[in-house]
Amino acid sequence: MNETILAGLLDSLEDGVAAFDLDGHTLCCNAAACRLLHMNADSLHHIFDLPQPVRMFFRDVRSGDSTTVELDHQAVRLQYHDITKDGLRVGAVLTLTDIGEQDRVERIRREFTANVSHELKTPLTSISGYAEMIENGMAKDADIKAFAERIRRESNRMLALVSDIITLSELEERGIREQEETVDLYAIAQETVETLKSAAMVRGVTVRLSGGPTYMQANPVLMDELVYNLLDNAIRYNRDNGTVYVRVSDGILTVRDTGIGIAKADRDRIFERFYRVDKSRSKATGGTGLGLAIVKHICERCHAQITLESALGIGTEITVTFPQA
Ligand code: ADP
Repeated sequence: MNETILAGLLDSLEDGVAAFDLDGHTLCCNAAACRLLHMNADSLHHIFDLPQPVRMFFRDVRSGDSTTVELDHQAVRLQYHDITKDGLRVGAVLTLTDIGEQDRVERIRREFTANVSHELKTPLTSISGYAEMIENGMAKDADIKAFAERIRRESNRMLALVSDIITLSELEERGIREQEETVDLYAIAQETVETLKSAAMVRGVTVRLSGGPTYMQANPVLMDELVYNLLDNAIRYNRDNGTVYVRVSDGILTVRDTGIGIAKADRDRIFERFYRVDKSRSKATGGTGLGLAIVKHICERCHAQITLESALGIGTEITVTFPQA
């Protein structure tokens, strides 16, 4: 294989790779290895030049051995392998993996699984409890309708949660962005206002839409999801008889409400999965705690910028600025 191609290939790897001959001279060192070792390729001539914890690993090492060391406060897993030719050892290869990043991803995954399990268990326990009372004849005839209503409400909560989880996992998959077409953001806002009309009416909230047609290349399902989540929140976290102002113009979507507002300390955190300022209010209004995480994901996908201004007791304004075509 051509040397340039080989170097390009090695540099495209996320893991570090460095190879040495039998005398310990460096044969190659890819970009990730330099980064993890905090060295320049030019300064790594020999195994002796390696940082001390890595040098120590090379003592009495056997092919296949691995260890974890700390390099400049970063946990790195080292693995050693012999390079052989015709059964003879001709050199050594060292691979380096940043396990700090792996740990972080693993922690997020664990937290997400724990949260999802918890969020599903609560409505399921309630559904099972009501069904059991009906089954055992413990529910009076007069209660059955109310119990059925609760079972339906809890099932809807689970459905909303599962559908948000599916959206999030789809967003994490590449490819969904490829289903782009010309969409009119204003028309999407109009439809969303219509969809949420009854939810707004129940709270006496007035929704005002202004602006005009704004065409862009985007995935229509994602745009629906984005506008829906922002508008839904602006209604649910509004005060009774409040107002929501939605404006779409020149590639900018603004959703402003006259609701409870968001304290400074919570403003970054509300975009995290399952973070809610007031858990009982979120749940009572059918929230899943995933809406803004989805919004954030969609914005990243579209290279759109999202900003938030809020004042407690006065209201919140969220602005999404899409890149110019
Ligand atoms: P949820 O399903 O709980 O509404 P979101 O991810 O959509 O989840 O929002 C996260 C949290 O951010 C909400 O629980 C709520 O505390 C807060 N929040 C979101 N939008 C607003 C808003 N317009 N006004 C006040 N608080 C909001």
